[in-house]
Amino acid sequence: HVDGERAEVPQAGSPGLRLLKRVGVVDPESLDDYRATGGYHALRTALLLGPSGVIREVSDAKLMGRGGAAFPTGRKWDATAKQPVRPHYLVCNADESEPGTFKDRLLMEGDPFAVIESMTIAGFAAGCSRGYLYLRGEYPRALHLLRNAISKARERNFLGENIMGHEGFSFDIEIRRGAGAYICGEETAIFNSIEGFRGEPRSKPPFPVEKGLFGKPTVVNNVETLVNVPVILTEGCEAYTRVGTEGSTGPKLFCLSGNVSRPGVYEVPFGTTLGELLDLAGGVPPGRELRAVLLGGAAGGFVRPDELDLPLTLEDARAAGTTLGSGVVLVLDDTADLGSFLLRIAAFFRDESCGQCVPCRIGTVRQEEALHRLVGKRPLSTSAADLQLLREVGQVMRDSSICGLGQTAWNAIESALDRLGYAEEAAK
Ligand code: NAD
Ligand code: SF4
Repeated sequence: HVDGERAEVPQAGSPGLRLLKRVGVVDPESLDDYRATGGYHALRTALLLGPSGVIREVSDAKLMGRGGAAFPTGRKWDATAKQPVRPHYLVCNADESEPGTFKDRLLMEGDPFAVIESMTIAGFAAGCSRGYLYLRGEYPRALHLLRNAISKARERNFLGENIMGHEGFSFDIEIRRGAGAYICGEETAIFNSIEGFRGEPRSKPPFPVEKGLFGKPTVVNNVETLVNVPVILTEGCEAYTRVGTEGSTGPKLFCLSGNVSRPGVYEVPFGTTLGELLDLAGGVPPGRELRAVLLGGAAGGFVRPDELDLPLTLEDARAAGTTLGSGVVLVLDDTADLGSFLLRIAAFFRDESCGQCVPCRIGTVRQEEALHRLVGKRPLSTSAADLQLLREVGQVMRDSSICGLGQTAWNAIESALDRLGYAEEAAK
């Protein structure tokens, strides 16, 4: 936990922390500090293991992507490594535009060399000669620190030709900045953006592992996913799998925001319950009652106060009808205006739709209009008709949109209607 009061919560640098262990402890501009705290040991280990050995470690550690979709990282690397077409590319997705998500920012600002080392290991494993770090445009401090880290890594041969004296392994990193579009965090929209085209998603398949950036095999990994890799190589995959649960291994960062006493980024093992996490953050402000928690972001779902024993794992979240997504834990207390909150979500999706496909371009507008009538209880509206319209539009978006934005634009609203009883509340 790095924001707000620090009294009763795990501190940056405390022994239990793996991903945040250097954040707030080392000078993020100093390569010497980084090396003095174990930096670049993992890359040395990777060079000894060889590409297939690294992929085996990461696969055995059961590392799942931390960007939101939880795809097995080892499978991605293996599929790319096996492609005969050259070159291969690595893209680190640091666009982090999901509302309520700010964990990657903390990693990049607090431990930038770890991001660069992790990308280098991923590049080595998947046979990539070049990496792109696609950075959210609104992160100027991360940009400065990452540029510094890349330049110092180059000076000391941690990037460039024959890295660390390893004959034949050459890898370098270029930063590309986003320009404020949420959709440019979608992996294939990133490719278009880097290539100089409009940031619009491409249809999948083919998946990037086969045909990605510049039409070449490409690994795309989120910042937090990558930063787990040195932990795995340093501790070993067996030790790593002892953290978390059988289906969700390792540590996880959660972003606590909203009506919570100590908002910030928290690192806990998978399997910690939602209630325990809220306690770490001091719960809702004194004198307030918890109303709901939005888990997983704008495309996620709501959890009720009677469900706080939910273990935060990929499998338990799925079974509860929600997702951990990118680690969003957005807390609403009894003073929160749920209707306005849902309208903000609907407006966000309407605004951020790239407009490429009809169900999303039109659906997000119709969804916001119907919700507006429902929330505002306008005289012309009959709530039942608007509820039905919302459900029909939501289903069409889910079934026929090209990318995840349109497919999930109805998730949180549906969840509020069905799980929080907002349908009945709005219909009164
Ligand atoms: P996805 O399920 O389509 O893919 C997940 C990853 O697995 C991708 O990299 C994809 O290429 C790969 N993949 C899937 N099937 C594959 C296969 N058969 N072979 C090889 N690779 C395969 O999901 P997505 O659209 O990439 O991501 C959606 C998620 O992004 C959502 O869960 C959402 O929470 C999250 N998200 C995060 C942010 C953020 O700021 N972190 C922002 C928006 C959305
Ligand atoms: Fe664009 Fe929405 Fe279609 Fe995705 S679903 S391609 S954001 S219009």
